[in-house]
Amino acid sequence: MHFFYYFYEMVIGLEFHDIINNVFGSDVKGIGQSEQLQTCCPKCQEREGLSHPDGKYNLEINTSKRVFRCWKCDEPKFSGSLGRLIKIYGSHTDYEVYKSYAKIFRDYTEEEDFEDVFVKLPSETIFIEDMDVKNPNHFKFYNYLVNDRKISRDIILKYKLGFCEEGKYYDRIIVPSFDIKGEINYFVARAIDDKMKPKYMNPDVNKGLFIFNEGFVNWDSTVYLCEGAFEMLSFPINTIPILGKDILGELFSKLKKHKPNIVILLDPDAYKTTINIYFQLHSIYGNETDKIRIIKLPSNDDLDEIRKKLGNDGMINAIYGARKLMVDDYFIKKLNNFYGRNGNNGQYSYSKYFKG
Ligand SMILES: [Zn+2]
Repeated sequence: MHFFYYFYEMVIGLEFHDIINNVFGSDVKGIGQSEQLQTCCPKCQEREGLSHPDGKYNLEINTSKRVFRCWKCDEPKFSGSLGRLIKIYGSHTDYEVYKSYAKIFRDYTEEEDFEDVFVKLPSETIFIEDMDVKNPNHFKFYNYLVNDRKISRDIILKYKLGFCEEGKYYDRIIVPSFDIKGEINYFVARAIDDKMKPKYMNPDVNKGLFIFNEGFVNWDSTVYLCEGAFEMLSFPINTIPILGKDILGELFSKLKKHKPNIVILLDPDAYKTTINIYFQLHSIYGNETDKIRIIKLPSNDDLDEIRKKLGNDGMINAIYGARKLMVDDYFIKKLNNFYGRNGNNGQYSYSKYFKG
């Protein structure tokens, strides 16, 4: 008995083991027994496109030093603070519990969990504001933005749009993302020719670790959520592109903290994403869920199409003029149709969700 007692005492960071177990399921070697744990690397799994862990246990976690690294991930390396790992792959609660324990350690600061978004713009990037007006090739990109996408000069300059003529991102528009210090933390590279595949090329970093163009966000004002960077350019009023189907880490935390009025502004075909997001917001807004709105766009066109037809001002009017909807209205009917439950308006199934 004595031996076991002594043994357990030697495991530093034992309080983190339950959280790690929670995040990675029961598939962690060394839980409760060692400071050095092994589990399957979720980053490797993502890269290989596997629907299940790869069974290789390449991810090592040290609960005494509160660090992790994957032995296989290289370029980019996947390593950092344990808090960062939990922040990326755990739930919001997992990370909150982690912080409450980690704060007991004198050397812990939340900043250690923020590191590692080392994104630089492609070295070939030329900002539109620096383009050579005598160079017809440069004008190709300018024309794409101004004539094809109907993005105004002001917006082009405000968001510091650029392009690449050569390199990995050749013939692409670069939409940089700036953090609150004005540093680049991400970019989206879109082909100017729709036939080019893939249409978008983005850096391989975890999207939960930053908010696209957070430097432009005013949390005291209504925040609009849209899907991608070009939708943001279509509706550039305190708009955050979620860059996917979920509200992830950093954005989730900030919304939870500030609880701004929020408008979900997704394309008409994105009902599934919209309901996902609605439920995510619902879970953090507590008794302030009336701050969450969903806007039905005035037609079946997506934001970009609307703006191309109506121009910037026309589009903003159309959006403001659109009825603001609570979730039990048009949206629910559409969702029911979307899920093939149009009989009886499908009311029963959704009222269940919202009360539960
Ligand atoms: Zn890995």
